[in-house]
Amino acid sequence: MAGALTRADAEAADARDPLAPFRDRFVIAGETIYLDGNSLGRLPVATRDRLAAMAAEWGEQLVRGWHDWIDAPARAGDLLAPIVGARPGEVVVCDSTTVNLYKLVSAAIDARAPRTLVTSPDNFPTDRYVLEGLARQRGLAFRLDDEVRPGDLAVISHVAYRSGELLDLAGIQAAAQDATIVWDLCHSAGAVPVNLHEAGAELAVGCTYKYLNAGPGAPAFLYVAEERQPELRSPIWGWFGQRDQFAMERPYDPEPGIGRFLAGTPNILAVAAVEEGAKLTAAAGIDALRAKSIALTERIVALHDAWLVPLGFSLETPRDPARRGSHVAIRHDEAWQASAALIERADVVPDFRGPDTIRLGVAPLYIRHVDVHDAMQRLRDLVALGAHRELPAARGRVT
Ligand SMILES: *Cc1c(COP(=O)(O)O)cnc(C)c1O
Repeated sequence: MAGALTRADAEAADARDPLAPFRDRFVIAGETIYLDGNSLGRLPVATRDRLAAMAAEWGEQLVRGWHDWIDAPARAGDLLAPIVGARPGEVVVCDSTTVNLYKLVSAAIDARAPRTLVTSPDNFPTDRYVLEGLARQRGLAFRLDDEVRPGDLAVISHVAYRSGELLDLAGIQAAAQDATIVWDLCHSAGAVPVNLHEAGAELAVGCTYKYLNAGPGAPAFLYVAEERQPELRSPIWGWFGQRDQFAMERPYDPEPGIGRFLAGTPNILAVAAVEEGAKLTAAAGIDALRAKSIALTERIVALHDAWLVPLGFSLETPRDPARRGSHVAIRHDEAWQASAALIERADVVPDFRGPDTIRLGVAPLYIRHVDVHDAMQRLRDLVALGAHRELPAARGRVT
């Protein structure tokens, strides 16, 4: 293990890395070590060019562009499908994760009549809020719980946003019996293999601006297993979900397929960015991305144990690489100041999740072993010198 602690070892790992050339496919200006791709991925060169081309297309085509644009949400969904182990026609790109979660949970309440809506107390706030809000609106019970019981409708994050813990999707789905599960893939899509179809998963949502690099506020995706599509109906009866949409006079009659979960006019420029992000991920291959991600998080854990534990840090993420996603969460009593010092004094961008967690995200398309090594060394040196205490202890509005 001692070898893994040297910069020379990190350089050697980069030299052997089959994904190393992918870094050149991102817009990277300056020397910043960016360990926050789990919050907002970097800009792919192809996406920058595609967005410019899409703007030109808009300028030239005007409303005629819709002949092609109309299929963009389904087309982008089909590009994402293999990345999450879905079949063609089971994924569509639209709205935000929050809105898609609302749509799918609401549709599943109508179809399944669950007694209780359940999610982990550690789940991401929007997931908890959407579920609690729906429970209130529909007069159902709501429980914050890691356990799923018969008759529950549960929203489960495949990779936990804070700790980075990766759950056994197939095992949990198989044990669900008559409970309904909606999977949240925000921290898994593009980072860890997901086999929705093989696992018998029925419903899932996820965002595209994290490991899929589609840009701030890029539309999310939703997945509904083909067999479940006919029985589920979106709570938003929008015209983009209508069969034969341009026969304007007819009453609402939803599309037979995944298109029934669209609501209003999609953001076509942003959907194009999702397509580019999906293509880049597919070109690298999810298994290769996963292998590199594990190697990078293993390096963080080894350096954490050697350098940071003596400074009062502890590991929040599971030690077993099979049980963690693509970020490592570490805890420290002065985590906010340490995180701010990394950004302001060391040109390293991690993120902070209160009250005491620093997340170090390693997006395997563009993070190198030397990045991890240098970031950990700078964190060690800042905290060992007490330099982080010179930063204000009060937190900013966006962490
Ligand atoms: C990032 C994230 C979201 C984001 O939802 P938005 O609607 O895109 O703001 C939701 N859930 C989880 C688990 C996340 O990690």
